[in-house]
Amino acid sequence: MPTIKLNGKDLEVDGKDKLLKICLEQGAFVPHYCWHPGLQPAGNCRMCLVKVSNSKKLEVSCMYPVADKMEVSTEGPEIDAGRKAVLEYLLINHPLDCPICDKAGECDLQDYTYKYRQGVSRFDEDKNIRHTKDLGPNIRIWGNRCIVCTRCVRFCEEVAGTGELCVIERGDRSVVDVFPGIPIDNPLSLNVVDICPVGALIDKNFMYAARVWFTKRTESVCASCARGCNIDITVLDNDIKRLQPRPNAEVNQYWMCDEGRLNTHYVGSERRLTRSTGTSLEIAETGRRLKFAGILSTYATIEEMHLFKKLMEALQAGAVGFLTSVRGQAQKFPGGFVIEADKTPNRAYAAQLFGEEAVARGIAPVVGDLQSGAAQGLLLMNGIPDLPLPADLVEAARKAQFLAVCDILQNPLAAVAHVVIPATTWAEKDGTFMNIDGRVQRIHKAVEPPVTSRAESQWLQEVLVALGARPAVVSAEGVFREALPELTYSKIGSLGVKTNGHRR
Ligand code: SF4
Ligand code: SF4
Repeated sequence: MPTIKLNGKDLEVDGKDKLLKICLEQGAFVPHYCWHPGLQPAGNCRMCLVKVSNSKKLEVSCMYPVADKMEVSTEGPEIDAGRKAVLEYLLINHPLDCPICDKAGECDLQDYTYKYRQGVSRFDEDKNIRHTKDLGPNIRIWGNRCIVCTRCVRFCEEVAGTGELCVIERGDRSVVDVFPGIPIDNPLSLNVVDICPVGALIDKNFMYAARVWFTKRTESVCASCARGCNIDITVLDNDIKRLQPRPNAEVNQYWMCDEGRLNTHYVGSERRLTRSTGTSLEIAETGRRLKFAGILSTYATIEEMHLFKKLMEALQAGAVGFLTSVRGQAQKFPGGFVIEADKTPNRAYAAQLFGEEAVARGIAPVVGDLQSGAAQGLLLMNGIPDLPLPADLVEAARKAQFLAVCDILQNPLAAVAHVVIPATTWAEKDGTFMNIDGRVQRIHKAVEPPVTSRAESQWLQEVLVALGARPAVVSAEGVFREALPELTYSKIGSLGVKTNGHRR
């Protein structure tokens, strides 16, 4: 283990690491564009200059190997002057697009220009004009803004393994492009927009949608598959404007897939179930007379599953069935990222609570009980967006003497149910999911649900109180402590906690 001195402080470091990584881990400020923790270093933006004792000139730290007894400085007038000069070159052909650029407010070029007071240009010549065009169905490039850091090119090669992007032309005409007729359209494509350090690559779904300083960011977890990628939800005026990955080395590294990122349409959909019928307390009243069956989807949170099970016990219900959504095979990418085949976020906990066999049987036992008359009442808690209800379930449930439906979108059973409770989406409540590896992670309320929606963890508790099966209604966190007593929301933190819930 070599020992180096960083800004006067002695450190023992991993000899395999390059200087920039060490500096950043130690909290030293070193500006950089082309280096990204999830990609191989390239050393082409030249911004991460530092002073090292075994060199007379400033060195590019992202490519510089450490050596024993090396002394490194990341601050000082000489270093500032070097970085300022690099910045001046990068800005030579960069347009003053900030007022119309979607990256404004979260752009490294803006931030470093402000820090190094590089506000006046000495460049009197005409700027080079480069292309502005679509690179794929979701991505558009403003070539004039590109600083040719090659992060996007390396992402497509190293992480997605698809290699659609390349740098064309030479010198100050260099710009990112695709091969004619082959757009960037891989399942991870929109990550290149996140990692572009300037506003060259733009997500067409977010284009001109919001000025980021007016938005609110909420930490959450993607609910579109069992991987549970950590995300931030960007919201303006109670409207989800975009989802972006939040780094978590154990789950999604720095990435998320396009399908999960763009799967928010149902939250503000006109097909939302907003008309409630009857009250949830009718479930308690009817449960005293009729034999109930229950169906739960693996979209429900840990808290909701825990309460649903308690309700089934309190009602002395018969069969419990499960709605799940599995599509194809898991997709593994060269960089290690995985999109799971299970398109729901919480099957692992359902399997832990009810048993994997019960979940795997799906809805068959409930359909059987309804058809035979062994069950006369049904409580259906779905919530999987866009999952058509199976025809045999619809047919059998229509014959039930009492039907209660809690769902997000309108469906044939909600249209005929005795009790309809408009559900909340994952973005409209607090709760937890267990991902495919048994990792318990939190979701946070980012937007208000429609006024008729009720948080499931609340009304389920109210029914249990009415049945005398619990003393009072508590918060989602209180329910979570009952479900997994060894954990609390604060122990889970923002990166989740691995439990013994295991991979199927
Ligand atoms: S488009 Fe963005 S990420 Fe790609 S090379 Fe240009 S500046 Fe870098
Ligand atoms: S891999 Fe799964 S959890 Fe991750 S972003 Fe895609 S759909 Fe969401």
